[in-house]
Amino acid sequence: MNVIIFGPPGAGKGTQAINISKKFNLYQISTGDLLRDEVKNKTEIGKDIENIISKGDFATDEIVNELIKKAIFDKDKKNKLIFDGYPRSLSQAKNLELLMKDSNQKIDFIFFLNVSKETIISRIEKRKILEKRADDNLTTILKRYDTYMMTTKPVLDFYSKKPNFYEIDGSEKITEISSKIEQILSV
Ligand code: AMP
Repeated sequence: MNVIIFGPPGAGKGTQAINISKKFNLYQISTGDLLRDEVKNKTEIGKDIENIISKGDFATDEIVNELIKKAIFDKDKKNKLIFDGYPRSLSQAKNLELLMKDSNQKIDFIFFLNVSKETIISRIEKRKILEKRADDNLTTILKRYDTYMMTTKPVLDFYSKKPNFYEIDGSEKITEISSKIEQILSV
């Protein structure tokens, strides 16, 4: 089973992805984590990525598509993928379709966690205290939201037409969201 979970920054994608991956024995593929690893490991593209993330911009499709390809073609992870934070643009969504086809896989479930801008802002403000991520300040949050709306909205339009698309109210309690998702995945 392969799953996509997407939604605006602060919608709780990461938390839900971790939960689902544990319960259903899937590998969480977070492009945010993969990008932060490049920064941490001081790779050649790490410096560029650091700049991009701190400004609240998106990494280029080229960089992200390359990182994601490795995970998709990893034999151990075949049909055990949960995508968190990818795809974020229409071109990434189309690239994902190609990569899935080429690796003889398909996406079984697509979840969109929908939350308002106000909920996101208050959640990220709270997370700042817990995690102190460098990209978590209000200006960056708003920039990330706007970038999201601009480039990810077409992804929503693309996926919402599919029969395996599920919109989930992301403003509910974490446990409630989890149980809704689990119910759908268990059918
Ligand atoms: P996240 O941890 O998913 O919130 O991602 C943190 C940051 O990494 C984002 O604000 C983007 O700058 C970058 N990023 C993560 N995933 C992608 C993606 N699929 N495409 C482009 N940039 C991404």
